[in-house]
Amino acid sequence: MRRTLDQAAAAAATCTKCRLAQTRTQVVYGVGNPDADLMFVGEGPGLHEDRQGEPFVGAAGQLLTRMLGEIGLARADVMIANVIKCRPPGNRDPLPDEIDACTPWLVEQISLVQPRRLVTLGNFATKFVLQTQTGITRLRGQVFPWHGRKVIPTFHPAAVLRGGGEGSRQWEDFRGDFRLVRETLDELLRPPAPVPAADDAGPDERQLELF
Ligand code: URA
Repeated sequence: MRRTLDQAAAAAATCTKCRLAQTRTQVVYGVGNPDADLMFVGEGPGLHEDRQGEPFVGAAGQLLTRMLGEIGLARADVMIANVIKCRPPGNRDPLPDEIDACTPWLVEQISLVQPRRLVTLGNFATKFVLQTQTGITRLRGQVFPWHGRKVIPTFHPAAVLRGGGEGSRQWEDFRGDFRLVRETLDELLRPPAPVPAADDAGPDERQLELF
């Protein structure tokens, strides 16, 4: 039988699969609704997240929470996680073997939550999830099919804060990406288009009348 998300988080809490176990304060597994339709994936915990044990609690997290509010969602409605579950010392980039060691936690997390929509925050998470070398500036604003789900890449909120803040072009693009996320969620609320019965599966006669 598959373990629950709580069981997976408890197992992750004692992970020693890479050297980050020696320098972290605690594992930052993820937070939110275990049945969420929408999951956010960032890079990895920073100083505040390492202290509090929750992803996106610093300034970048406050911007994420604000943007969620703009599309009618609270943090508790979604799942928020990172590719890397432990803070690299000094916020250095995670090393390839650390990413490899941590990947199974995220893969299991996605398969337990089964989100229909994933938002990758920034270059690192987007390249990791979509397995691409294309940068976030070219990928954002679009929706990508991914294992029967949809991925909506956007900027990392920390980059938006650095890139001019409120009113800047990047801020408005970021806001637009959240509206796109809202649209992809609203699709899930609409009843599926009816599948034609076998008898009506032939040519549409109303169209044929035109010719
Ligand atoms: N940046 C991230 O990528 N993740 C966090 O949890 C916090 C900051």
